[in-house]
Amino acid sequence: MKKCLICSAEIKPFMSFGKMPIANGFLTEEQFKDEPFFKLDVAFCESCKMTQLTELVDREKMFHENYAFFSSTSARMGEHFKGFAGFVKEKYLPAKDPFVVEIGSNDGIMLRNFAEAGIKHLGIEPSANVAQVAREKGINTVCEFFDEAAAKRIVAANGQADAFMGANVMCHIPYMHSVLAGIEALLKPQGVVVFEDPYLGDILEKTSYDQIYDEHAFYFSAVSVSAMFERHGFELIDALPQDVHGGSMRYVLARKGARKVSAAVAAILKKEEALGVGRPETYERFRLNVEASKAALVKMLKELKMARKSVVGYAATSKSTTVFNYCGIGPDLVEYISDTTPIKQGKFSPGVHIPVRPYSEFKAKYPDYALLLGWNHAREIMANEKDFKKAGGKWLVYVPKVEIL
Ligand code: SAM
Repeated sequence: MKKCLICSAEIKPFMSFGKMPIANGFLTEEQFKDEPFFKLDVAFCESCKMTQLTELVDREKMFHENYAFFSSTSARMGEHFKGFAGFVKEKYLPAKDPFVVEIGSNDGIMLRNFAEAGIKHLGIEPSANVAQVAREKGINTVCEFFDEAAAKRIVAANGQADAFMGANVMCHIPYMHSVLAGIEALLKPQGVVVFEDPYLGDILEKTSYDQIYDEHAFYFSAVSVSAMFERHGFELIDALPQDVHGGSMRYVLARKGARKVSAAVAAILKKEEALGVGRPETYERFRLNVEASKAALVKMLKELKMARKSVVGYAATSKSTTVFNYCGIGPDLVEYISDTTPIKQGKFSPGVHIPVRPYSEFKAKYPDYALLLGWNHAREIMANEKDFKKAGGKWLVYVPKVEIL
């Protein structure tokens, strides 16, 4: 039996995706023989309602000097984080000498908005390559993992903060109680926590099982985030759905009683109740939906192969690692993956080893079908790829259902 990372109750996986490599572990042929694998199992805690992985990968294997995800490659996310920064500035920062801290600040996509406004800020980013890019842009960044000890060092050097922020990072951190103790030490009495992560409600509704991979130790909902922070004296004061990463939620928390609680909190908790977020049978249903999605995708790809159609993956995302490995889709069904990130080009996808080639190859010779691996950026991608459609190309998607567009 495994124990819940938040409340230590006994938990049992409701689903196993089998043997899985590191989602962002794009690798060279020479590295195939040493490729690390783990078991991707996911469980729901009936006691504190937290959905989580039961096997964890060492953090240093995922976040290091060759981290392959550079946030600023997406213009749409740049706009999104400008909005996030504005939201925090307008709603929660004091007029005099505010200080904000962001964890997982990556290449500075969010903090640049504070730096440009002359606001005291600090990024905590353990992946050295992306942290360096942020520093080169003039964004104050320390290269380390955030936890209680790091928080105490930050307070000693800079004083307490008015806002603690994170995007697509809190769900990465299994040692959550150390992070929450760190937040307690770091924040001023009126300080706020504002973070967003992929939302469990969307994952369940869209069967977007590709959100489940090594970096995501947790799959948050308002009910589980509330319960987790309550243990450290904080309450959920707002929750705002976000149309990014296939459906995210922005959570705002403050010390209990320190700030007004928005009516949105009760409304979202009610919606989660109706969706069955807190009931184990919901996860059994999700597992069946995932199995059906896998069967439909594999069938579609095999039919395209029989019809001698060319299929290329579009964007070498971390999410696609779960899909390819769980469904057993390799270079026999998907010829190559096209990607604009230089660090991934010339390498192979984790586990199933599909070659990753520069985007110029896709442009030079359009395939018959492009498998949309970054489906969460569908609008942005399809708007940029009108010529592919004009040339007769078709998109193959698998979230929320397997279909050709
Ligand atoms: N916030 C950016 C965004 O939304 O585009 C980056 C998200 S990226 C998926 C997650 C980032 O969190 C990585 O840059 C990783 O190095 C960082 N990270 C992982 N664990 C962390 C920790 N304990 N403290 C601070 N950052 C961490």
